[in-house]
Amino acid sequence: MKTVNDFNFENKKALIRVDFNVPLNDNLEVADSTRILAAKSTIIKVLEDGGSCVLMSHLGRPNGVEEKFSLKNIASKVSEIIGVQVQFSENCIGEKAEQAIAELENGEVLLLENLRFHKEEKAGDDEFAKELSKLGDIYVNDAFGTAHRAHASTAIIAKYFPKNKCYGLLLASEIENIHKVLTDSKKPVTAIIGGAKVSSKITIIESILDKIDHLIIGGGMAFTFIKAQGGSIGSSLVEDDKQEMALSILKLAKEKNVKIHLPVDAIIADQFSNDAHTKTEAINAIPEGWMGLDVGSKTNTIFREVILNSKTILWNGPVGVFEMENFATGTISLGNAIAEATEKGTFSLVGGGDSVAAVKQFNLTEKVSYVSTGGGAMLEMLEGKTLPGIQAILE
Ligand code: AMP
Repeated sequence: MKTVNDFNFENKKALIRVDFNVPLNDNLEVADSTRILAAKSTIIKVLEDGGSCVLMSHLGRPNGVEEKFSLKNIASKVSEIIGVQVQFSENCIGEKAEQAIAELENGEVLLLENLRFHKEEKAGDDEFAKELSKLGDIYVNDAFGTAHRAHASTAIIAKYFPKNKCYGLLLASEIENIHKVLTDSKKPVTAIIGGAKVSSKITIIESILDKIDHLIIGGGMAFTFIKAQGGSIGSSLVEDDKQEMALSILKLAKEKNVKIHLPVDAIIADQFSNDAHTKTEAINAIPEGWMGLDVGSKTNTIFREVILNSKTILWNGPVGVFEMENFATGTISLGNAIAEATEKGTFSLVGGGDSVAAVKQFNLTEKVSYVSTGGGAMLEMLEGKTLPGIQAILE
């Protein structure tokens, strides 16, 4: 795996695809700089070698050129985080960009305007990729969040740097850590899959069954499994058309010797609100008019036991509506159990939008082994797919 550490960037211009697709507030200021911080070590490596950085990224889903999606909005935050005054080019290709790059000196950083202001970026247009490729000597892909897309800047461009291309440090560590779960894992391996819908997690569940010993299923998606097995789930979230699928997952797991752990009790509510009346009920005996919004204490104990006996843990998706305080206990308890196991030497990887948000909200980021920055990209890797952005560097 070739990374920036295999190159000396002295007098070189590194063209780095970063993932600066950060959330902005109403004043168009960066609301969460996690992704900028994640790209910092790659940028610093190039600068310390005595080279310069040309940073390219997308931001949001603009329809043509839209000011609110301009990367200019984040330039000052990037400067503050890297500790270098970042220059800005108002177009990511063309004469102006090329001029700015010709004038770029070692130790300097230039940020290009939003790649998606050109529809050719998402289309994976070859001509556009070729234009971009003129802007650096060495191509570095450090954008894990878009590694599952075959866009011009994430994959197509790589062929214009047959020898001079590599992974950034973030992308390299994402690959390494996901491999720790998929290929180099210590047994027993436990996957915890939660979240709202089973339909969005079916492929990942099916493909990881070969690699795991235990599967904990929580969150809204558990109710499709409970109902399929004949349980009463009241008005809990359910996907009726996925009941067959749920039963076939249970069967497949049995054949593969994977132990499935479904919730045994739930905190149920009479409405989808933090102010609802609540009580605890057996997971398969939820009365009409009530819905399960969190797992109950018996379930917490069972899940905790499984987690503490695991050597490798993958966590994707909350086990309750953790955004509401009254239904966050299950997810907090789960997170704490993972932290406790990690402290005793278990490798724990957390990934996928909402579990990452939960880990942040409950201050567990430092207490798990690795938090993946890419939701979709991580899920596709776990599904066993080859990601275009990763593949393009290997070719
Ligand atoms: P996902 O994006 O599929 O991982 O789903 C995450 C969402 O699932 C979060 O917003 C949770 O609030 C929601 N969720 C978790 N448990 C439940 C539940 N029992 N009922 C409804 N939504 C849930």
